[in-house]
Amino acid sequence: MEINSLQELYVEQLKDLYDAEHQIIKALPKMIDKAESEELKDALNEHLEVTKEQANRIEKIISDMGDKAKAEKCKGMQGVIAEGDDLIGDIEDPGVRDAAIIASAQRVEHYEMAGYGTARTYANQLGEDEAADLLQQTLDEEKEADEKLTQLASEINQEAAEGTQEEVTADVPPRTTSRTAPRKNPKRVA
Ligand code: FE
Ligand code: ZN
Ligand code: FE
Repeated sequence: MEINSLQELYVEQLKDLYDAEHQIIKALPKMIDKAESEELKDALNEHLEVTKEQANRIEKIISDMGDKAKAEKCKGMQGVIAEGDDLIGDIEDPGVRDAAIIASAQRVEHYEMAGYGTARTYANQLGEDEAADLLQQTLDEEKEADEKLTQLASEINQEAAEGTQEEVTADVPPRTTSRTAPRKNPKRVA
């Protein structure tokens, strides 16, 4: 796509975001599957529904301009999602895995926030007021999702931290030796 004006750059950014949203719609169900915490599952599920609406919003903005909502591959989001996938797949402890799912989801949200902030500003500068409002709405939702994840992290990560400390700082002696033994990951010991 040839870009020689702010208008064209704006359209390119919208198409990039449109593809990013579709990648997220595909990725979220896998993250929900791998999550242990019901609260985390619920939060991701809720954001999945919000995300579908966000994709519709961009489609509307693009079609209102008389353009086709053909996506431009968002390589950045591809990388963010692939990295999260690799990380989450390597973790067996459910609490630590939830912490990693949150870490990965927050990177996704921040990447989106950067894109929507830019697109919203372009829309304002180009006098596309209705589009600017729609993009601001999505930006607010991404911020809200990020804050929700931060709040969940404060509980879930604490549990993950305590899960590993338990073995080291148990002030009550373990009732049986088998209680601590199975926690050891044989792969890591070798
Ligand atoms: Fe989004
Ligand atoms: Zn991109
Ligand atoms: Fe999002």
